[in-house]
Formats: sequence, C-alpha cells, structure tokens
Amino acid sequence: MRALCWHGKADIRCDTVPDPRIEEPRDAIIKVTSCAICGSDLHLYDGFMPGMEQGDILGHEAMGEVVEVGREVTNLKVGERVVIPFTIFCGECEQCRRGNFSVCERSNRNKDLADKVFGHTTAGLFGYTHLTGGYAGGQAEYLRVPFADRTHIKVPGGLGDEQLLFLSDIFPTGWQAAVQCDLQPTDTVAIWGCGPVGQMAIRSTVLLGAKRVIAIDTVPERLAMAQAGGAVTIDFMQESVVERLNDLTQGKGPEKCIDAVGMEAHATATLDSIYDRAKQALMLETDRAHVLREMIHVCRPAGVLSVPGVYGGLLDKFPFGVLMNKGLTVRTGQTHVNRWTDDLLRRIEEGQIDPSFVITHKVRLEDGPAMYKTFRDKEDGCIKVVLKP
Ligand code: NAD
Ligand code: ZN
Ligand code: ZN
Repeated sequence: MRALCWHGKADIRCDTVPDPRIEEPRDAIIKVTSCAICGSDLHLYDGFMPGMEQGDILGHEAMGEVVEVGREVTNLKVGERVVIPFTIFCGECEQCRRGNFSVCERSNRNKDLADKVFGHTTAGLFGYTHLTGGYAGGQAEYLRVPFADRTHIKVPGGLGDEQLLFLSDIFPTGWQAAVQCDLQPTDTVAIWGCGPVGQMAIRSTVLLGAKRVIAIDTVPERLAMAQAGGAVTIDFMQESVVERLNDLTQGKGPEKCIDAVGMEAHATATLDSIYDRAKQALMLETDRAHVLREMIHVCRPAGVLSVPGVYGGLLDKFPFGVLMNKGLTVRTGQTHVNRWTDDLLRRIEEGQIDPSFVITHKVRLEDGPAMYKTFRDKEDGCIKVVLKP
C-alpha cells in the first residue's frame, strides 16, 4: 500500500510499504477513506520530537471502513464506518475505567521505555514517537487498529467524511481544552494559537458559554477564521499581547488561558524568544516556553491555564514562582478522545457545529509530502489539510 513515511527532519515520502495485517485477536484493519495532517505531526516533521525512526508511518487522524477484524472483536463488522481516535486504549485498565484514555496503562507496547522517560507509561498513539508505542499511523491506504473493540467511534452514513473526521483528534482536543477551563458565564478566555486546535477551542468555548473569547495569532486568515467563530483577535507580531489582554479586561487579565501553540512558539525578537531558539538549537532545552510564560504573567490570579499544546520535554526559565503565588491551576494532557465523542457526534448531528469549517485543502495522499511544507509554512492560506488515500 501507499503511506506517508518519516525519513528525518523535513523528509517525508509517500512510500510503498507492506499492507498491515491482523497481529492480535483484538485488532481490526480499516481502509482509510480520509485522513488529516495535525500540528502534532509538524513537531515530528521539524525534528523536535525524540523517538522517531526511519520509515515510521505517520498520521493519527483517520477514518474509514472496517475490512477485517480479529477473532475477539465482536462489536465491529466488515463494512462498518468508523473514525479512529488518536489515543489507543484498552477500555479495561484502571485509567480507562476512569475515562483517562490517553494514559491507558496497557496500550503502549513500549511501556518500559515510557516508564523510564515519563515515570509511568502513557497510552499508545498512532503515527507518533516510539515513546508512545511507535504504532503505524493512518496517513496510508490501510490502518491496523490495536484494541479495536474499544479504539473506534462508529459513525452514521448520513454525514460526509469531512464533518466526522475531526472526532479523531482536533475537535475533542479543542473541547477538552475548553472543558478543562471550568468555564463560568462571566469568564473571559484567551486562546493562544489559531491553528486547527485553536479554532476548535474557540468554537467549543463559545458553545460552552464563556462571556468573551480572545484569540491570538499572527496569520491573517487564521485570525479571520477566529473572528468568524466569535473571537476578538490580537496579532502578536503587531501589538503587545499582555498589554492588549489587560486593556480588554480592565487591567485584571483573562480568567482562563488556553495554549493551543505548543513547543514551537514564535515570538517577536524578545530576549526570551532568542534565548529559547538558541537553547533549543543547541539541544539544551526541547521546548520554547514563550506562550506559557506569557499566560502565567497575564492570567488573572486564581485562574486556569489549559494546555492542549504539545511539549516534548524540558522547559527553561519557567516562572513557577509566579504560577504558585498567583494560585493558578494548570490542566493539560493528550486528549481522552472517546470521553467526549458521543456528546460531540450528537452535536454534529444536531447541527450545533460542523467541524469541516477548518478545512482549506483536500488532496491525494501522494501530495502529502508537499502539503506538510505548505501547512507548516502557512502558505496558500493553508489551515487544515485532508488527504484522500
Ligand atoms: P498549528 O501549528 O497549525 O497551529 C499553531 C498556531 O500557533 C499557528 O497558527 C501559529 O501561527 C500560532 N503561534 C505560534 N506562536 C504563537 C504565539 N507566540 N502566540 C500565539 N500564536 C502563536 O497546529 P495545531 O494543529 O493547531 O496544533 C496546535 C498544538 O496542539 C500543537 O502543539 C499540537 O501538537 C497540539 N495538539 C495537541 C493535542 C492533544 O491531545 N493535547 C492534539 C492535537 C494537537
Ligand atoms: Zn493531532
Ligand atoms: Zn487502558
């Protein structure tokens, strides 16, 4: 089959690789009808995520049709239409029983490595680092789904792929980011990053009834989409984010802050951004903490920082004392996708939201390598890419 494979920094190729097959009794194979490129894939593309290997098949946002099931998968039938959550989960361990699917204790086949690095294992993820199991991803014609009796979202026939695909990741990710803010009707929520995750966080925050949403980015079409979603916008290259947020909140700061940027934050040439770029380049730190510092500084005391943005490891010059003295709460994590998807599928079916609003590019799988660059460089108005294998 054809699949997008990682060959090193900025080197992704559409290779011909062996078709996946059933390896365990709880596996299923799906024929991928649509898949997407995520901001998390860019951390792999840019070489910032440790634990990648030559030839790894990328992709963790995929949907399609079941073509084969293992003997213990009794609740999926050949021909059924499913969206595959990016977090692989067993459904039975203590964490899964609590709904903490992204820290499933059983689905990471490199558990020993994860135990060493993280202290405790996290769930297996598709198309990601070997720290999370190194499972082949869904930017491919076929995908093997481990623990498939639990790791799926059944979807109805009436809706198009584009409306359903983002149940795999970015819609529940934006939703979880908003839910983790414990929103009150009086809250002002500031959201850094108007990429696909930021866009879903904006719409979720509005749906969940916050008083006001302020979105921060610098890419004009992303700011325009944020505005269309109901946000007031700030261009971080044109104005001081902290000053503007304080102006908009009578000097008090937003009650809730969401980091939908992650470890590759850009900034005007401030001292801290130059410092971060230098240290990251020399591998003295893994992540650029600019957005986190800004959030800690501007958030109203006793507020919440919700961090869906992905970080890989070590941060430097992290003002923990400020965080502590202001009494801020930090909530973060890879998304517990299936915790939210029944509710979100219902909201899509009821027409409360159509997540396909974020798509700007629909291309063949073969065009994937070029689209990684277009997406990363935000060329051609690119916000979200859907690939059709
Ligand atoms: P993206 O790269 O398209 O979006 C990031 C946006 O942040 C860009 O529009 C960029 O212009 C903007 N940005 C950069 N520096 C900024 C700054 N200083 N202030 C404000 N905005 C800034 O990616 P995406 O797909 O939207 O993903 C965003 C983050 O969410 C990534 O880190 C990704 O890995 C993460 N993510 C996490 C989960 C999860 O489960 N927690 C799931 C999906 C994605
Ligand atoms: Zn993702
Ligand atoms: Zn589990």
